[in-house]
Amino acid sequence: MLDIQTAVSLQTFNTLALPARAEFFCRVDTDETLLEALRWARDKGLRITVLGGGSNVVLLNDIPGLVISMAIPGIGLQHQIGDQLAVRVGAGENWHLLVQRTLAEGWYGLENLSLIPGLAGAAPIQNIGAYGVELSERFLSLEAIHIPSTERLSMSADDCRFGYRDSFFKHAGRDQYVITSVTLSLSSKPQLHLDYPALQQALVERNPTELTPALISEVVCEVRRSKLPDPAVLPNAGSFFKNPVIAKEQYARLISQYPDLVGYPQADGLVKLAAGWLVDRAGWKGVMRDGVGVHQQQALVLVNRGGDGAKLLALADEISQSVLSQFGVTLELEPRVYP
Ligand SMILES: Cc1cc2nc3c(=O)[nH]c(=O)nc-3n(C[C@H](O)[C@H](O)[C@H](O)COP(=O)(O)OP(=O)(O)OC[C@H]3O[C@@H](n4cnc5c(N)ncnc54)[C@H](O)[C@@H]3O)c2cc1C
Repeated sequence: MLDIQTAVSLQTFNTLALPARAEFFCRVDTDETLLEALRWARDKGLRITVLGGGSNVVLLNDIPGLVISMAIPGIGLQHQIGDQLAVRVGAGENWHLLVQRTLAEGWYGLENLSLIPGLAGAAPIQNIGAYGVELSERFLSLEAIHIPSTERLSMSADDCRFGYRDSFFKHAGRDQYVITSVTLSLSSKPQLHLDYPALQQALVERNPTELTPALISEVVCEVRRSKLPDPAVLPNAGSFFKNPVIAKEQYARLISQYPDLVGYPQADGLVKLAAGWLVDRAGWKGVMRDGVGVHQQQALVLVNRGGDGAKLLALADEISQSVLSQFGVTLELEPRVYP
């Protein structure tokens, strides 16, 4: 049943714990309630903001209109052909609990994506990725509701136009759809992806007798916990900047000046730089002011210790400017800024 509340604090609904309020707020746990909420807002001419786990948003001010908190549940095996499994997941399922559930069921393929915060419905928005695997490699289709028409539709990987931390939903599809479920392509036969250097190194240190998807998940969690602050302890939104992708000529110039520059050559000839390295070398690691700052160990992570969205974005802007003037590289924010 639709329950609309007014002037709701969103501080516990975003992992940066930024203070902001929703003019109107509702939690939806079925497609029908979602449709009701969309029609309610449309009739009143209100703006709609969809919120998952709030782990990739910066709330700059109070949010006008209706904030819809996604809670649609459900994890189920749709079909199996040989080793290949199609697993349908409700948008409101917690991503990491989903990964753990798939491992327990013997449905493999998500292990490298362990411990990414947030909900399953947000995973296609920025094509989540970690430790050498991206959602797009495990994606079959999604179901969504088109906000302006409230029509239901299904979308393929081609429709979603996935890229590096990117999809159709960040461009032409921005604010046009609510994803209600995602169907993943998993396998009953483990196919391990061990190419990512930090994962390889952690495995060498452990020297396991047997490599299993459960072990990979465990090691990924261990590495992540050692590198990233837990938002429940120190509010943050993970990587604050995307890793910039530059031309190989610019990379060659930079590496001759900075031999320890971290870069990963891409299949298309471009080079992806580690944004954390750039922020660190520009001197920002550990800087704290006005209740916001850059994490002591991980320069890519901005943290909130009692500040607000404006202070955080002012800091991010200063960091971007200094990286641009020192390295000639433009940094792009990874989280979405609201309103
Ligand atoms: C500590 C930490 C580590 C992280 N590590 C990684 C990582 O390794 N890799 C990575 O890719 N990301 C990472 N992230 C970012 C984040 O976890 C992901 O982007 C995640 O998918 C966001 O999910 P969410 O439910 O919190 O989305 P939210 O932050 O609630 O929303 C993000 C965007 O998606 C939209 N959205 C959410 N749900 C829906 C829906 N059902 N339909 C339509 N639009 C929707 C929102 O409107 C918003 O624009 C990290 C974040 C933190 C805090």
